[in-house]
Amino acid sequence: MAKVLGLRCKECGEVYPKNPVHVCELCFGPLEIIYNYDEIASRLTKSKILDGPLSMWRYADLLPIDGDPTVGRQVGYTPLVKADNLAKVLGVRELYVKNDSVNHPTLSFKDRVVAVALSKAREFGFDTVGCASTGNLANSVAAHAAEGKFKAYIFIPHDLEQGKVLGTLVYGATVLAVKGNYDEVNRLCSEVAGKYGWGLANVNLRPFYGDGSKTVAYEIAEQLGWRAPQNIVAPSAGGSLLTKIYKGLQEFHKLGLIPDLPTKMYCAQATGCCPITTMVKERSEIMKPVKPNTIAKSIAIGNPADGYYAADTCRKSGGWAEDVTDDEVIEGIRLLAETEGIFTETAGGVTVSTARKLINQGILARDESIVLCITGNGLKTQEAILGKIGHTIPISPNLASLAEALAGLGGVPETGRK
Ligand SMILES: *Cc1c(COP(=O)(O)O)cnc(C)c1O
Ligand SMILES: [Zn+2]
Repeated sequence: MAKVLGLRCKECGEVYPKNPVHVCELCFGPLEIIYNYDEIASRLTKSKILDGPLSMWRYADLLPIDGDPTVGRQVGYTPLVKADNLAKVLGVRELYVKNDSVNHPTLSFKDRVVAVALSKAREFGFDTVGCASTGNLANSVAAHAAEGKFKAYIFIPHDLEQGKVLGTLVYGATVLAVKGNYDEVNRLCSEVAGKYGWGLANVNLRPFYGDGSKTVAYEIAEQLGWRAPQNIVAPSAGGSLLTKIYKGLQEFHKLGLIPDLPTKMYCAQATGCCPITTMVKERSEIMKPVKPNTIAKSIAIGNPADGYYAADTCRKSGGWAEDVTDDEVIEGIRLLAETEGIFTETAGGVTVSTARKLINQGILARDESIVLCITGNGLKTQEAILGKIGHTIPISPNLASLAEALAGLGGVPETGRK
């Protein structure tokens, strides 16, 4: 028996064979993978996971590819950092950072979804892949396409950060900079997939792509000693990551790998693009698309494909949602860097500042365990903080010049080796 039985429409339940399709022909609802959990349960144990590779592929039994992965074999198993310094500043008892800013190879959580999507693309027989991206997905698809010897066509909005653009071009991908925002890029790509017969990671491969995000949850649970945290804060763009983190925890619970599921999910967005947090805060069933205007470009999706499900997951799990201004995004980046020595991108600044806001509102409980999902690396979004942090102090290469500079700083405090 196969572990993947097919695809199912999340809205009307219609079942489809395992193909590169992502919307229901009957109701246009999104499709998701149908797993054979009885079959998976018969062979998946803690010790099998523990004996597996130190990568996201230790959970391969719960990922939607038939054979072994053919690209991205080293992706995942990123650090879960106990963030005691940040906990102190935020006034909470037990805080962790799931640090995907050091994910191999392109320094964001997107390597997880792409490792699955392109391994599946190979199984489907595609020789050309691509994506619609706000930046990190572009980096990851281009890198894994190079590794897997696929041709790659990457579609991005024309105004992305330079680090994201260079970090795509370097792999030799063809990069199309679309004069429009992400939602327009995405609309174009749904036409592209059909016309050219390419495997687009977050379009016609989307059901497979999405499940790569479940591995964030599996790792958190394993790294906490096979238990789920009481709270997880995650940034949302299309809403897939947050939804799939919870799905991953539900699967671990169903399979008996964690004893209970107390986790409340919290969505973090930038106020300049917050269709999902607005839905939660207004207790609305309808998501209103917005026109993005924020420095947090990696999560600036005005019409998120899984927005409804992300909002629903926050509510059903007993969590909530909040959004923060661009100034707060920068404060969040600085706070994480200065307390924990972790340099995250704008999306991470959103997550840290949203967590602080939820704690100050009394919504996130100070005495409960909290995991912050840090999803991307700060070296890729340098524009966001340029001129807004400290500056270097120029000196000549001699002690007199150093002494002058230190005097200018108000002198050197009495310190030394103790
Ligand atoms: C893509 C992305 C997200 C959100 O992903 P969705 O699954 O689309 O909600 C969060 N953080 C970073 C850094 C990303 O690149
Ligand atoms: Zn349907």
